[in-house]
Amino acid sequence: MEKIHKVISENIISVKEAKQLVEENITRLSPLTVPLRDAHGLVLASDVIAPIDLPGWSQSSMDGYAFRFANWKPGQLLRIAGEVPAGSKATVPLATGSAMRIFTGAPLPEGADTVVMQEKTSVNEGLLNILDASLQPGSNVRPQGSEINRGQTALEAGQKITPAGIGFLAGLGINKVDVYPLPHVCIIVTGNELQKPGEPLQAGKIYDSNSWSLQAALNQAGIKHAEIIYAEDKLETLSAAINESLENADVVLLTGGVSVGDYDFVSTAAEQNGIERIFHRVKQRPGKPLFFGKKKNKFLFGLPGNPASALSCFYVYVEPALKQMAGQKSSLRTLQVPLEGSFRKSTALSHFLKGYYDGSHAKLLQGQESFRLSSFAKANCLIRIGESTNECRPGDSVEIILFR
Ligand code: AMP
Ligand code: MG
Repeated sequence: MEKIHKVISENIISVKEAKQLVEENITRLSPLTVPLRDAHGLVLASDVIAPIDLPGWSQSSMDGYAFRFANWKPGQLLRIAGEVPAGSKATVPLATGSAMRIFTGAPLPEGADTVVMQEKTSVNEGLLNILDASLQPGSNVRPQGSEINRGQTALEAGQKITPAGIGFLAGLGINKVDVYPLPHVCIIVTGNELQKPGEPLQAGKIYDSNSWSLQAALNQAGIKHAEIIYAEDKLETLSAAINESLENADVVLLTGGVSVGDYDFVSTAAEQNGIERIFHRVKQRPGKPLFFGKKKNKFLFGLPGNPASALSCFYVYVEPALKQMAGQKSSLRTLQVPLEGSFRKSTALSHFLKGYYDGSHAKLLQGQESFRLSSFAKANCLIRIGESTNECRPGDSVEIILFR
């Protein structure tokens, strides 16, 4: 036991080092072609080139009448020769001295170059009187290719696809894009004491909450599905679970069994699966035991079993790593804000405290213990107090990680 303690204390690293090690070791996933509908929120892996002009032809931007400006003098009446609804195209060119009824989005008939909006006209016995003194050649017309020309770059590689971007690409007739996908994640929940919610609690058991909170946090990060494996506290079972998880997952989130007594358990099971240990102890609370390892381009985080600790470590380390794998920045904002109230600590550990940021100050919530989710449930940020800071007074500037 003494030997283990020695190894552990020798290898303890700072939060800064741990975050840096995660960032340095994480690799971006290979690009993937996905249906446009599934691309929202993902980063483009290659430039998207417009396959067509947009609009594909000169298009009316108003309901009104199309005519040729140069062939008309103010006061001159034009014969209404027909109409072009959206979705159709005039079959005959516009004759001199005539105009054509046209609707928003419809192509201009050949020979026309200007549209007068219907509100600025009068019509009598099929003759159009244009009553718009401000009309210019080309008014109310979107020229062909005015949004983008065929062959131009519509969206650049590295750009994150927004709802507007999806619409823009769909409007170009594109239905597939190359993106960096989000990683596949598997959650391994360890603990003989765990029971799934929905059944009466048996003696000595507790309900599993980690797979639930982590799954929701993954959802928040854009990962809609995660496989969940329940493993009992046995080396062979855990090792088999890791082996199974590595088949499909890019990232394995294991909870429990990483604390002092059990620590070698996760470490050994990871080792048995060819996972190289990068670190396993961090100068922080919660989450002093935190394992991070890799096997080629697959990664394993051994998160603490305590529900609040597991979720804290998710926000501090896992979320940024998942986003990095998808070529993205973390969605969690880090801010420097004044603290409401005061805080004291005697350890040389960084603390991540459940807090509430109201837009001007960060307030520490009651119930900071690592098992407490009741306070976490009301929190919208983690307040980070540095390793060497022992006291914070009201108004002192603190770093927060906003997750909501
Ligand atoms: P461990 O790291 O396995 O020693 O777990 C630390 C504490 O967290 C123990 O009280 C466990 O019962 C609890 N715990 C572990 N896993 C879970 C879980 N999935 N849901 C809720 N509590 C858990
Ligand atoms: Mg356990």
